[in-house]
Amino acid sequence: MRAGPGPGVHPGDIAFKYEPMHTLSIKALGEGLKTKKFSSRELTQHYLSRIERHDPALNSYITVTAEQALAQADAADARLAAGEAGPLTGIPLAQKDIFCTAGVRTSCASKMLDNFVAPYNATIVDKLHGADGAGMVMLGKCNMDEFAMGSSNETSWYGPVKNPWDTGRVPGGSSGGSVAAVAAGLAPAATATDTGGSIRQPAALTNLTGIKPTYGRVSRYGMIAFASSLDQAGVVARTAEDAAYVLQAMSGFDPRDSTSVERPVDDLVGGLERPIKGLRIGLPKEYFAEGLADGARERVMAAVEQLRSMGAEIVEISLPNSPLSVPTYYVVAPAEASSNLSRYDGVRYGHRAEGIKTLEELYKRSRGEGFGAEVQRRIMVGTYVLSHGYYDAYYLQAQKVRKLIYDDFRRAFESVDLVLGPTATDVAFELGSKTDDPVAMYLNDIYTIAANLAGIPAMSLSCGFVDGLPVGLQLMGNYFDEARLLNVAHQYQLATDWHQQHPRGFE
Ligand code: GLN
Repeated sequence: MRAGPGPGVHPGDIAFKYEPMHTLSIKALGEGLKTKKFSSRELTQHYLSRIERHDPALNSYITVTAEQALAQADAADARLAAGEAGPLTGIPLAQKDIFCTAGVRTSCASKMLDNFVAPYNATIVDKLHGADGAGMVMLGKCNMDEFAMGSSNETSWYGPVKNPWDTGRVPGGSSGGSVAAVAAGLAPAATATDTGGSIRQPAALTNLTGIKPTYGRVSRYGMIAFASSLDQAGVVARTAEDAAYVLQAMSGFDPRDSTSVERPVDDLVGGLERPIKGLRIGLPKEYFAEGLADGARERVMAAVEQLRSMGAEIVEISLPNSPLSVPTYYVVAPAEASSNLSRYDGVRYGHRAEGIKTLEELYKRSRGEGFGAEVQRRIMVGTYVLSHGYYDAYYLQAQKVRKLIYDDFRRAFESVDLVLGPTATDVAFELGSKTDDPVAMYLNDIYTIAANLAGIPAMSLSCGFVDGLPVGLQLMGNYFDEARLLNVAHQYQLATDWHQQHPRGFE
């Protein structure tokens, strides 16, 4: 099932010599490559050897593309030697296994797509790794919740991912493989997707920085659809600066995605150094109400004080409809999912049941065997809320509430520059502790879902630890204000060192 590093990689020989490379920032890696401290091949081999050594304890990769990675590294080294390199040329990156990669399996962590090899690349894969792209090296495809449905990375057909901070706990989901790989130093950064929190919540649970940009900022072409009006690609990295470099390269208009927005991309890296003095930050009282664990609240409030001491003005605000975001999402997202997933019918591509006699049996058995329990639950809920007689009562009603949630933010951004709150209600929970209770699992995303329903950019960054486990701070911005979010996060990270902590056992 899993493809290990390929021939030509001798981890034992190189691990010691290049040990510190995985602690370097993306900027430092770029400088190291340009000044020939190390080559892209050496850097890539270093990461492949770390994956071989550490990933059995984490299960963060579904596929490791060692041979292709080394070939891409050699091409990057040639570009570097020719003086044609950009800031990311030759730097490794992991891809969430939801993005189509030509010639390399794209499974979406589902048995349904275990045999699926896309004939084309997602736009972001071309932008990051293609011949005319940024020149990054793809290390492999990361584990995730099946079809990105989940908050703990326990619904993957390839088995759960473990949190490097405590391997008895979940890394969050659905981008659990992406965050576990980056947190453990098995990739400098990784792509991820966020439909209801799947970039921010796992980033929070693993001490990383993760950003979900404005809906439409990054192309969805070639990204396997879950809920199309909510899905947005982004990045997880150790710092806001690292995230800015990668997001810069991913963003931009794509004529192949009709919801992609034709608008120039801001200078995300260039915007990091601005002072934050005078910035107005809103704290929604609903995000600090009952349900937030005491330890997490203390860490978030300490970060608020830090930002205040740096000159930010803190104001209490209200987003009155935010308690409705979870029920609204669990109507809208399953409705769209039930439609998107109807294409997996055993006929065109994906899993096909054997020994079939009738067409109906083909549909039933292929879908019954190919989809896991959570995906089937969402398809049934989605089909129900869209069916005649229930459409008005559920789906239409949810769309109306979605508008109210959007209006809350629009009003808030008339008086504040950004909104701050916790990312998750608590630190990472134990593996298996919520798998039998879907509603408890759904409530994990209470603070993240509203940003998807409104389409605004939002990010998470680490603001400390409770009993050795990371706590995430969430920043939400107005439309296309990614540069401001990253700027505030970067300034906070210049003043604190939470983001520099590395999990024990993965040195
Ligand atoms: N946890 C949420 C869900 O299960 C969000 C997932 C996501 O953002 N992809 O749907």
